[in-house]
Amino acid sequence: MTGFFDNKIEFLKGVGPQRAALLNKELNIFTYADLIQYYPFRYEDRTKFYKIAEIREDMPFIQLKGKIRYMETVGHARRQRLVAYFGDDTGEIQLVWFKGLQWILKKLRTNIDYVVFGKPGRIGRNINIAHPEIEVLTEKNEAGGYLQPVYSTTETLKNRYVDSKTISKLQRTLIGEAFRHIHETLPPNLVNQYSLLAKNLAIANIHYPEGQQMLQQATYRLKFEELFFIQLRLLKLKLTRQQKFRGIVFNNADLLTNFYNQHLPFELTGAQKRVIKEIYRDMRSGSQMNRLLQGDVGSGKTIVAFICMLIAIGHGSQAAIMAPTEILANQHYNGLKDYASKMKLDIALLTGSSKTAERKEIHEKLLNGSLHILVGTHALLEDVVQFENLGLAVIDEQHRFGVAQRAKLWRKNESTYPHMLVMTATPIPRTLAMTLYGDLDVSVIDELPAGRKAIKTMHHYDANRLKVFGFLKQQIEMGRQVYMVYPLIEESAKMDLKHLEDGYESVNRAFPDYAISIVHGKMKADAKEYEMDRFVKGETKIMVATTVIEVGVNVPNATVMVIENAERFGLAQLHQLRGRVGRGGDQSYCILMTDYKLSKEAKTRIKTMVSTTDGFVIADTDLKLRGPGDISGTQQSGLMDLSIADLGKDGQILQLARSAAEKILEEDPTLSLAKNKNIAAQIGRQKKSVVNWSRIS
Ligand code: ADP
Ligand code: MG
Repeated sequence: MTGFFDNKIEFLKGVGPQRAALLNKELNIFTYADLIQYYPFRYEDRTKFYKIAEIREDMPFIQLKGKIRYMETVGHARRQRLVAYFGDDTGEIQLVWFKGLQWILKKLRTNIDYVVFGKPGRIGRNINIAHPEIEVLTEKNEAGGYLQPVYSTTETLKNRYVDSKTISKLQRTLIGEAFRHIHETLPPNLVNQYSLLAKNLAIANIHYPEGQQMLQQATYRLKFEELFFIQLRLLKLKLTRQQKFRGIVFNNADLLTNFYNQHLPFELTGAQKRVIKEIYRDMRSGSQMNRLLQGDVGSGKTIVAFICMLIAIGHGSQAAIMAPTEILANQHYNGLKDYASKMKLDIALLTGSSKTAERKEIHEKLLNGSLHILVGTHALLEDVVQFENLGLAVIDEQHRFGVAQRAKLWRKNESTYPHMLVMTATPIPRTLAMTLYGDLDVSVIDELPAGRKAIKTMHHYDANRLKVFGFLKQQIEMGRQVYMVYPLIEESAKMDLKHLEDGYESVNRAFPDYAISIVHGKMKADAKEYEMDRFVKGETKIMVATTVIEVGVNVPNATVMVIENAERFGLAQLHQLRGRVGRGGDQSYCILMTDYKLSKEAKTRIKTMVSTTDGFVIADTDLKLRGPGDISGTQQSGLMDLSIADLGKDGQILQLARSAAEKILEEDPTLSLAKNKNIAAQIGRQKKSVVNWSRIS
């Protein structure tokens, strides 16, 4: 069955085979549905005329009404430009052309009324508008007052005369034909409750707004719908899983109690205790657990994972933990080994570098059930790795793994899926978590172990370096160690490497009495390891490095993190780097070094770092600054191809849409009530279209 919106774009009046091929290739537009969902990314306001006296250079595109009083060409030969002095009853402004002077000169007349549209700018002291659109004033354009949609296009399209205006015309043609085919996708009671615009009006107004207010309503409606269906899908997934996938019921707490009473190395924080309770409740519930555990660096996730493993092992099951890198897997293994040996449990490490004999032994012990805990990297996912009875699978730093890998780990237990605990130290803003992990339950460790002193963060300009060096010297003399981190990115690798080496030289000169380590990604692995090792042992006092130390290094005696060219790092990265210090009981410091010249965004980043250590505040700011596309984990999810909603800005709509979806599923989990038939129909249509499940048609 094909509907109206499945029509190929080439059949739309004004398109034809050649333009269709272009639209396919350049914009991924194949069908009527694709075109109608190709929304403008901004609008030019032609509803209002500004007075010249109101104009400021930082205004967006504006519209003026007035007369050309005088024109002249200035400059000579190739540098020539045409200046028209354009006035209304409040003042005068220059309209400037650098290209096509002859043609424009012929077209323009003085002392007749024009409508001018363009973006104010400045040359020297004069505010002007370069290359404005200019039309003779008519009754139509004076009264018309419309919002002109702007669609993004490509160079190729523009060269073939398909620009924003062309697309706009095609949209108008299409909407004329399509209007009566546009179905309402939301239930009428929901449309009423949230005062949403009807779907067909929303679509028409997003392409041809009747005015600001209609545009706002149309945008709101389409965002709501988009987020609603995403949330509905995620919540439904969760519901299905809870009903369909039974979980092993773990209700033997003997091992846990034993560990608590005899071997607990420190008092757990309130947050750790709460989280363990949440997890234990899931593991006994009879449903399979899928829980995300968020906790900032150093919040103590490892011991939580271990305690949950005890719950599974106490019941005769096995547990596994997977980390994204060998360094991290090693670190986990070393940490867990101590706990495990106290509990007389068998634990092994499996990574890409495990020897064949070792592997064989591990495989055997896994199958006969004598190995209780397996720690490893992706190597865990290989088919040869089979468990006798995997009860709990933990994934660390989830954002580095794809959903497919998560699923693969799931299937390691044939009869009943293992409980899953996914851990991340990357704080994810709530709105994003609801979309990325909307099908998971979320626990948060929002408290650091007692006795940790909050890291003090300071900002210094490069010119203050001597003072900073003086401070480092003090710290080293107190017996502490220091990291100095330099940016090194692919695009400017050569320059960056030179900076790093220069930095190393200058530190060497400034601290002739201390041994210094240097580590960067271009070094051989064994050289790197040697340098790291010296620092870990305290033989070197300063570690000059690139961000290779971002994850995995744990040196409690290091109390100062100096970040050079801090303006070049993103917030998430700065936060991760800062997390390398403050791991012991001593007061730690983070020093952000920057140039005097900082962009507005860089200033915000630095200010945020100085004012807070709260990972969630930082993540929220990051989301607002950069948008969701750049936040780690979002790319693989495939959920970020939103056509209109913006997770950075539309948190409120998302909340509403999610709670609306929750209510509906609560009352009608199978979506079979008559009042929800629009939803069921829309989900059916979405399933049909593989390419983009949010399309309308
Ligand atoms: P992360 O959440 O970053 O994985 P870890 O689990 O590595 O943190 O814990 C960081 C450090 O804090 C470890 O040395 C760990 O032993 C210690 N730790 C964890 N919980 C507590 C606690 N409740 N009290 C004191 N120290 C703790
Ligand atoms: Mg950890």
